[in-house]
Amino acid sequence: MADILGDIKKFFSDLGLHLELGIKNSNLGACTGEWIEPEERSELISVNPTDGEPIASIVQADEAAYEKVLTAAVEAFPAWRMTPAPVRGEVVRDLGNELRIFKEPLGRLVSLEMGKILSEGLGEVQEMIDMCDFAVGLSRQLYGPNMMSERPRHRMYEQWHPLGVVGIISAFNFPVAVWAWNAALAAVCGDTMVWKPSSDTPLTAVAVQHICNRVMKRHDLHGVFNLVIGPGRSIGERLINDHRVPLISFTGSTNMGRHVAEATAGRFGRSILELGGNNAIIVAEDADLELAVRAILFAAVGTAGQRCTSLRRLFLHSSIAPQVIERLVKAYPSITIGDPLEDGVLMGPLVNERAVNDHFTALTAIGEQGGEILCGGGRPEGKGFFVEPTIIKAHPELAMAREETFAPILYVFEYETLEEAIRMHNSVDQGLSSAIFTSNLGSGEQFLSHEGSDCGIANINIGTSGAEIGGAFGGEKETGGGREAGSDAWKAYMRRQTCTINWGGELPLAQGVSFDVE
Ligand code: NAD
Repeated sequence: MADILGDIKKFFSDLGLHLELGIKNSNLGACTGEWIEPEERSELISVNPTDGEPIASIVQADEAAYEKVLTAAVEAFPAWRMTPAPVRGEVVRDLGNELRIFKEPLGRLVSLEMGKILSEGLGEVQEMIDMCDFAVGLSRQLYGPNMMSERPRHRMYEQWHPLGVVGIISAFNFPVAVWAWNAALAAVCGDTMVWKPSSDTPLTAVAVQHICNRVMKRHDLHGVFNLVIGPGRSIGERLINDHRVPLISFTGSTNMGRHVAEATAGRFGRSILELGGNNAIIVAEDADLELAVRAILFAAVGTAGQRCTSLRRLFLHSSIAPQVIERLVKAYPSITIGDPLEDGVLMGPLVNERAVNDHFTALTAIGEQGGEILCGGGRPEGKGFFVEPTIIKAHPELAMAREETFAPILYVFEYETLEEAIRMHNSVDQGLSSAIFTSNLGSGEQFLSHEGSDCGIANINIGTSGAEIGGAFGGEKETGGGREAGSDAWKAYMRRQTCTINWGGELPLAQGVSFDVE
C-alpha cells in the first residue's frame, strides 16, 4: 500500500496539490477556496477497506467552520448568478480539463478509499469529466418556451433563474461522480454549493476540492464550490434544516432520504432524492443467454454489489432457469476477489466492517426465511472487508428479497409468464433500475409499456447498472423520485418564472373577464 500512497501523493504534489496521506498530518475538512481550521478539532480517519488500515486523517468541520462555509456560499451567489451562463460554462469546462489531468491519481484514490476496482475508479472520474462536458453545452441551452397569449399584443414566456445555495449530500459508493452530477449542473445553472460527502470517503472529497480550488483561483472566484466534512447527525442535519439552502440534493439510503425529505419539505425547501434500489432483470425464454449471463455478472458482482443500480433480483423463465443458474454458479467462484488496485481483480471489499456484518445478518435471515444458498456465503480469509458474492434460490414470499442489502447477494426466482414476472418485478417498494433480456420485440415493448416496469430506468438487453450521463438518472417509489445528470435534470437546480408582457395600450383580462371601473 505504501507505494500506492506514495504515487498518489507525489502525483498530487507535482501538480501543486497538498493532499496529506497518513494520520500524523491531518487534512482540513472545510473549505471555501481557503481551508478552514475549526475551533474544535475532531478527527475522522479514512480507512482502506482492502486491509482495514488508516490512510489519512481529516479534521472535521465544527459549527463555526460550517457557518463560514455557508456564509461564503451565500455571499458568492449574487455575483455568480449574474455571471452569464456561457461564462459559467467556461469555468466548468476548465474544471473538466483539470479533472482530465488528475484522472489517474483521483481514480486510484477512489479505488483506495472506497474499494471499487481501478477501472471503475477511473470510470467515476470519467463520469465527472463527461458531466462537465455536458454542462458546458447546457450552459447555452437553459431554455424556456414561448406561449401564444390569448390576449392581443401580449407575449408570454417561461424563463429560468438560479436558485441559490445547493446542499449536496453524497453516499460513499460513488464518492466523486455523484458530486459531479450535481455540481456541474448547479454551477452552470448559477447556483453556489456546499458538499457534505460520506464520512466513509472524505479523502476523495478533499482531493476534488483541491482541484476545484485551482480552477476557482484561475478564474478569481470564491465560494462557488465549497466543502464541509462532518458527521451526518450534526453537520448533515444543519445543512438539511438550513433556510439559506433552497435545494438539498441527497444521495443515500431510503431511511435517511425519508428524513431529509421531511426536513426540507417542513421548511418549504426542495429536495432531489436518489435513494435505495432493488433492481431486477427478467430473462425471457428467447433471450441471448450468453449476453444475459455477462450482464448479470457485472450488474450483480461489480462494485461488490454496492451500486444503487446493482442487480439484486433475477427472474428466469423456467425453461432456461437451470442453464442460467448452472452458468452463474460456475462463474461466481472464478471471480477474482482482492485488492481493487491490482490487475485482474474483479471484486474489491465492502466499504467497512458494518457492511460485512449487514451482509451476514442478511444471509442468516434469508436462511430462516427459506432461501437456499446456491454459491458463495463465506468470508475470504485475511484482512479487509471482503465477502464472497452469493446467489440465493428464492421463493416469492422471501421477505429479505424485498429489502436492499448493500452487498453482493443475488436472489433468483423462476416464472412462467411475462405478466407474472413483471408483477413480481414491480412488487417491491423501490423503483430504480430494471431490465429484460429478450429477442422478442413484443416482450421488450411490453416491458417498456405503461403496464411494464415501474422503474425510473428500464433497459432491454443491457444490465441494470452502468448508466450513461446523457439520460436523467433516478428512480420511483422509495427510490425518491429525483432525477440527476442528463436530459432536463438541470431544471431542478433553477426556479421557473412565467412572464407576460403587455405591449399594447389596452388591459384585456384573461378568460374574457371584465372589470370596468367607471
Ligand atoms: P447513508 O444514507 O448512510 O448516507 C448518505 C449520506 O447521508 C452520507 O453523506 C451521510 O453522512 C449523510 N447523513 C447521515 N445522517 C444524516 C443526517 N441526519 N442528515 C443529513 N445527512 C446525513 O447511505 P450510504 O451508506 O452512504 O450509501 C448507500 C445508500 O445510498 C444505498 O441505499 C444506495 O442505494 C444509495 N444510493 C443511491 C443512489 C441513487 O442514485 N439512487 C446512488 C448511490 C447510492
